[in-house]
Amino acid sequence: MSMVESNSVTNKVDGVNSVNGVMSIDGVDSRNGFNRPRRTRIVVVGLGMVAMSFMEKMMKLDAKRREYSIIVIGEEPHLAYNRVGLSTFFEHRVVENLYLNPREWYSSLEDDGSLSYHLNTRVTEIVPAAKHVATSTGDIITYDVLVLATGSDAVLPTATSGHDARGVFVYRTIADLDNMMQFANEHKSTVGIAVGGGLLGLEAAKAMVDLECFSSVKVIDRNDYLLARQLDADAGRLVTDGVRALGLEVLHNKHIAFVNTNASNSVTGITFEDGERVECSAVCFAVR
Ligand SMILES: Cc1cc2nc3c(=O)[nH]c(=O)nc-3n(C[C@H](O)[C@H](O)[C@H](O)COP(=O)(O)OP(=O)(O)OC[C@H]3O[C@@H](n4cnc5c(N)ncnc54)[C@H](O)[C@@H]3O)c2cc1C
Repeated sequence: MSMVESNSVTNKVDGVNSVNGVMSIDGVDSRNGFNRPRRTRIVVVGLGMVAMSFMEKMMKLDAKRREYSIIVIGEEPHLAYNRVGLSTFFEHRVVENLYLNPREWYSSLEDDGSLSYHLNTRVTEIVPAAKHVATSTGDIITYDVLVLATGSDAVLPTATSGHDARGVFVYRTIADLDNMMQFANEHKSTVGIAVGGGLLGLEAAKAMVDLECFSSVKVIDRNDYLLARQLDADAGRLVTDGVRALGLEVLHNKHIAFVNTNASNSVTGITFEDGERVECSAVCFAVR
């Protein structure tokens, strides 16, 4: 998926800011022939769930006075989506079903100058002294107020040999799921492994099962029982039993020594610190 969308490019040229063709010179906004005070420009970095919540609240508070305009910059190719519901993507495979607000929500706010958005655009630099950010698309975007809503990244155990092999995945974005689906299709009837016995690890394991490509899916966990952060031992062991009853193999008290790879740097298995080795083609890390 390589949709490139950089809506309403904002270029700063000799003190004239142009957003969606709306010119703002010397603090005066001359849309529709009216001169009105320039809106306070809020730049939001990251177009995720928190950014959306912030924007919705701002729009509501500012509905009457229209004092603010928001420019939101997201590095993913999608409008803000429900990351918590990521796993449902396997069922419907329609990104739009996960959108927190439909595209029309953005366009209606664009029309009145309240919001513009950039997708596929990473903010690469913040220059507080100049009150601007620089982006991966080469734009310089000025702000009065800067809001960082960049979330967190999935963790890869970069000290573990083989962490960068083909067949290693994380589970956080639509792109992660797309990559995993494509890989699974090309590696039917091989073994998939989810590393991490927490909520995310179980979601990743369920996703691997739902793909219906892997011959079996194993969960690797370093604790005595699943959901060790959330549950006590008795409850956690019940979860382990329940997950095994669903047909998944669960290995507890396992610490990964390295990911085994072949000459073309594709995953062939995992070796644990106790020397045991399991074969697999795919490893999805859901660890902290
Ligand atoms: C599978 C899954 C299930 C989950 N289930 C739950 C749950 O049940 N309950 C719960 O409370 N939480 C859950 N979470 C966690 C929840 O999704 C996050 O807490 C939430 O998404 C955080 O929102 P956010 O807006 O801070 O970050 P994000 O949703 O990660 O959004 C941040 C966005 O900013 C973008 N970004 C980062 N840096 C830049 C940059 N420099 N320039 C431009 N854009 C940038 C990122 O690409 C991302 O799109 C789950 C997460 C996953 C992955």
